[in-house]
Amino acid sequence: MNTMRRNPEGIAEAIRKAHTVALVSHVNPDGDTIGGVLAMRLILEKLHKEVTLFCDGKVPDSISILPGAELFRVPEGTEGPFDLLLSIDVSDENRMGRSAALKKNSRTTAQIDHHDTNPLFMDINSVDGTAPAVCLLIREQMKVLGVPLNRDIAACLYTGLSTDTGNFAYASTTKECFEVMSELMDTGFDLSEMNRILFRVKPRAQIRLLGRALDSLQFRGNGKIAVMTLTRKDFEECGALSEHADTIVNYGLDTIGTEMCMLAREAAEGTVKFSLRAKEPMCVNDIALFFGGGGHPQASGITMAGPLDEAAAKVLAEMEKKMEA
Ligand code: 5GP
Ligand code: MN
Repeated sequence: MNTMRRNPEGIAEAIRKAHTVALVSHVNPDGDTIGGVLAMRLILEKLHKEVTLFCDGKVPDSISILPGAELFRVPEGTEGPFDLLLSIDVSDENRMGRSAALKKNSRTTAQIDHHDTNPLFMDINSVDGTAPAVCLLIREQMKVLGVPLNRDIAACLYTGLSTDTGNFAYASTTKECFEVMSELMDTGFDLSEMNRILFRVKPRAQIRLLGRALDSLQFRGNGKIAVMTLTRKDFEECGALSEHADTIVNYGLDTIGTEMCMLAREAAEGTVKFSLRAKEPMCVNDIALFFGGGGHPQASGITMAGPLDEAAAKVLAEMEKKMEA
């Protein structure tokens, strides 16, 4: 689709013309969207812009150690006016959540993103569906803007790069990741401490929730599809938050013989949130799109109406159909 539409010059021009800038992350924020927004905030402040950060949701604890993470505001939709609204890592307008209402209060709208399914919903779109993390595009953007790296920006970019590439292990990992990492290392940012916080330490509630999810694990489609579910009760009894389920889906795919997997969790207001994963050459983004979701070929998501069992059965049926095809 929109594989190569990087437009750092267009974004730079919009930034140069603006004084007030609203930076927007996606809902269910992850390390790439938060790292990208926080890096961009530091970059824009070097350029003396007045920056406001919006995230419709809570920043996960593991990434709330990044500089500026406390500055995120939950949008009410009435804020502004802004000269420029810039979304980072947002694959479609719905993924802005309540921040989408800020578009009408912004003179120019722009985005930097790396989702192949992105429908280019802003005035200026810098989207490269082949980039493994949006933070890679932010590094390029800084060069075009003439802002140098420092330790704080490096910590933010590392967060996005490492989390979106599964700690530099997914097939999406490119040579460019390591070239940028080499530049980040020059700043002296604390790689091993950041790595420990991002990938190793976990609250007890998260470990308990993992137990529940593994208990629910089932294999379908001749053992090629792994399915896990988490109910609201699971979350409540474990004292866990939605973010604590974010990486659990990978256990399904790590099981020998599995080619696709799904984690369905009961989320806010009767909705069900799906995380879908696939091993290459299998993909799941077509299934996600079919149900109104989106994402990457091997990592996609869907949010749809419940109840949990019915929604999960619908998605599973599509996965089984695809596996038989
Ligand atoms: P995760 O399963 O980790 O939440 O998300 C995996 C990928 O799917 C991410 O790239 C994310 O952007 C996308 N994604 C997750 N949930 C949704 C959703 O409800 N709608 C859309 N369009 N994309 C989603
Ligand atoms: Mn991303």
